Amino acid sequence: THFGFRDVPLGEKQTLVDDVFRSVARRYDLMNDLMSMGLHRVWKDALVSKLRPPRNERPFALLDIAGGTGDVSFRTVEAGGPNTHATVADINGEMLAVGRERAEKRGLADRLDFVEANAEDLPFPDASFDATTIAFGIRNVPRMDKALAEMRRVLKPGGRCFVLEFSRVDVPGLDAIYDTYSFKVIPGLGRLVTGDAESYRYLVESIRRFPPPEAFAELMRNAGLSRVAYTPLTGGIVALHSGVRI
Ligand code: SAM
Repeated sequence: THFGFRDVPLGEKQTLVDDVFRSVARRYDLMNDLMSMGLHRVWKDALVSKLRPPRNERPFALLDIAGGTGDVSFRTVEAGGPNTHATVADINGEMLAVGRERAEKRGLADRLDFVEANAEDLPFPDASFDATTIAFGIRNVPRMDKALAEMRRVLKPGGRCFVLEFSRVDVPGLDAIYDTYSFKVIPGLGRLVTGDAESYRYLVESIRRFPPPEAFAELMRNAGLSRVAYTPLTGGIVALHSGVRI
């Protein structure tokens, strides 16, 4: 079962993660809405409002790593001007396929690219993006230090890096509710909608294992990012981390 996850070798960990997202790709967006009770939209909007893509003609290139079906990228190009462009990179072709279909349907295919890529080893030259984001993705990457170093490498000097991830609930009372919700409600919902409780049990487990915000900020500094900061959102359920390449 995925409960033994912490003991699996790194290579196999990626395989397990890939199986999870392959099994849920088609239902992924629906599950996000159900499981977060719509809150993931609020969190992604918070990210995009910090990202502040230019509303004028200035070119702006976002790399959205572990971008999945492209939520953050769609929001960014919709908020930005005509030369705001997003590249969605994900290791899972099935998540990307769902995103690509969505781009066609919304008439945004020319503003978005979908690229199969591993966060630990990005197929892009140094200094090629104005911003890099990873939303609810970095905790799935076996070597987070590598992923952060890559996020920095592909940034232009002055470019900004944002990591949106589950964090530590810091509001008394909310923590108990959150635990019950995570361990009882989420796997049940997962089974109902996708027939797969195990995958969602793994997701809850991976949230628990993710470092607390100060420790994660240290990882970002170690990756060579400057002006590292974070903001807890919704009582710390999620944190928005940021850093700059100088
Ligand atoms: N960012 C999207 C969002 O917020 O809706 C998707 C988040 S989803 C929870 C996590 C994504 O990380 C999946 O699409 C998965 O395929 C991707 N992923 C997992 N390991 C990865 C890796 N090593 N490199 C790139 N993407 C990865």
